[in-house]
Amino acid sequence: MAIVAIIGRPNVGKSTLFNRLTQSRRAIVDDLPGVTRDRLYADVEWQGRHFFLMDTAGIMSDARDGVEAEVQEQVKLAINESDLVVLLCDVRSGLHPEEKEIVREIRRVEKPLIVAVNKVDGPRQEELVGEFYELGVEEVIPLSAIHGHGVEDLLDRIVDKL
Ligand code: GDP
Ligand code: MG
Repeated sequence: MAIVAIIGRPNVGKSTLFNRLTQSRRAIVDDLPGVTRDRLYADVEWQGRHFFLMDTAGIMSDARDGVEAEVQEQVKLAINESDLVVLLCDVRSGLHPEEKEIVREIRRVEKPLIVAVNKVDGPRQEELVGEFYELGVEEVIPLSAIHGHGVEDLLDRIVDKL
């Protein structure tokens, strides 16, 4: 079954989105000692299609390595272990240079990519989404993981691309 990875900087809302998409479905905690750090998988069904969603939340490289190292680790995992990557950004913190890097890297390996912008809770944030087109992607999906707006659009795009 296809694996979809959610990656992004800390606090963009990856876990909130993961929880919303998987709701009460039992998450499978896959703890492979040594090989990799923990990650969380859950089976998601949308319009009759199933895929595994992977949250890289469990990945915590040594705190001293910092945020960049942690995000790099996620990117590596996503590239190696998923069929499709969802890069989640945060409209409230704006576009971050590191996100441009991530897009370049994922393009380089020709991994299918969807860019979603979280925390678009209302019209005020809606106006700020345009900035993310600087990533050079055809489509940016605005959503609010907390309120649920846009989440169905994301699921539509995911199953389209699988
Ligand atoms: P992660 O580090 O990427 O996994 O981010 P979390 O899911 O832990 O969320 C980080 C913070 O952002 C938490 O305080 C969430 O409640 C908040 N958050 C997540 N989604 C949304 C959203 O759609 N709107 C707003 N306003 N806050 C959100
Ligand atoms: Mg998290």
